[in-house]
Amino acid sequence: MERVRLTEFGWEHSLVTETMLELPHPTGQQVLIDVEACGICHLDLITREGRLPFVPLPVTLGHEAVGRITKIGDDVSEFSVGDRVGTLYRETCGECSQCTVGDESLCEAASHVLGVLADGGYASQLLMPQSGLFRVPESLPPEHAAQLHCPMGTTYRDLKVLAGVRRGQRVLVTGANGGCGAAGVQIASRLGAEVIAVVRDSRHVESLLSLGASRVVVDPGSTFHKNPAALAIDVVLDTVGPPTFNSSLRCLRRGGTLVVIGNVDPERVSVNLGYLVTSAIRVIGGSGATRAEVEELCALHEESPFQFLVASVFPFSEADQAQRKVKAGGLCGRVVLVPSPTA
Ligand SMILES: [Zn+2]
Ligand SMILES: [Zn+2]
Repeated sequence: MERVRLTEFGWEHSLVTETMLELPHPTGQQVLIDVEACGICHLDLITREGRLPFVPLPVTLGHEAVGRITKIGDDVSEFSVGDRVGTLYRETCGECSQCTVGDESLCEAASHVLGVLADGGYASQLLMPQSGLFRVPESLPPEHAAQLHCPMGTTYRDLKVLAGVRRGQRVLVTGANGGCGAAGVQIASRLGAEVIAVVRDSRHVESLLSLGASRVVVDPGSTFHKNPAALAIDVVLDTVGPPTFNSSLRCLRRGGTLVVIGNVDPERVSVNLGYLVTSAIRVIGGSGATRAEVEELCALHEESPFQFLVASVFPFSEADQAQRKVKAGGLCGRVVLVPSPTA
C-alpha cells in the first residue's frame, strides 16, 4: 500500500510517500477501498499550511477519492465488495439534529473527517465508514469521478440548495477557471441562470464560454464590480476569498446572496456592516454535499454530461510537486492523483 503523509506543517517540508506492507482492515461499518484517483483540493493546501491547528500529524491528506470496495466490515449493509464509490468529507451519524433534517453534511457527531482527522485518499487503499460514501457511475473515468462530490456536488449544494438559484437569475462566479469555478459555471448555467465568469487571465475566456458562461470578465486585480457586466447580480459564488470578497459583495443587487467557498489565503477581510444591512445581503459559507445531493448531480450528468476539467494527473509519488502546482494557481480544472505504476 502506498500513501502520502503530511508529517510537518508548511511548504518548507515535503510530503512523504510511504509504502506499507499491511493493508488496513475494515471493522464494523467500515469498508476498504482500492483507490483509483483522488483530487487535490485547496483544503488540502490549507491543511498542509497548518491553518487547521487541530489536525493530528502525521496524516494522509485527501477527501476527493474514488475507487472500488474490496473488503467490508461485519456491519456494512449499504454496499458490497466490488461497488464503485466516492467519498464525502466524512461519515454521518444519522441521528443528530442536522442528520434528521437531511443535512448530514453538517452532522454534529462526525469524527472521521478525511484528510483532516482521519487518513484520507492520497493512498492506494482507504478505510471509510459506509455513511461517508456515494455510488459512482461505472462510465466515468477515475479523474472525472473524483470530482463528483468536491468540487461538483459541493458547488451544486452551494448554488441550488443554499443560495436557491432559479431560472433567469444572474450568477457571478469568481476564480471561474479553477475546479470549483468551472463547476459553478456549469451548474448555474444548468439551473437556468445567466452566468458571468470572472478570471484573472484572458486565456481562460474561450473554455468558460464553452462551459456555459454568458460573459467572461477578465480582471487581474479585484475591481470587477466596476464592470457593467458584473452589476445587479442575484448570487455570487466566490471561489477565491479575501482578494475578491469585497468586489463580490459590491456586485450584488439589493437582497442578493454571496456564497463563500474560497479561502485561498489566510488574510482576514474587512466588511462594512452598514453596507450588508442597507443592501439586505446574505453571506453564506459553503459546505459539503450530502449523498442525496451528489446523486441528484449524477442524475443531471446522465441527462446531459458535465465537463470535468482535469489540469493534470500525477502519481501519488509526485504528490508534493502536484500540490505545489495547485498552489501556484492559474490552472484550468483539477489536479488529480492516481496510484503510482509500481504501487
Ligand atoms: Zn475538496
Ligand atoms: Zn449526525
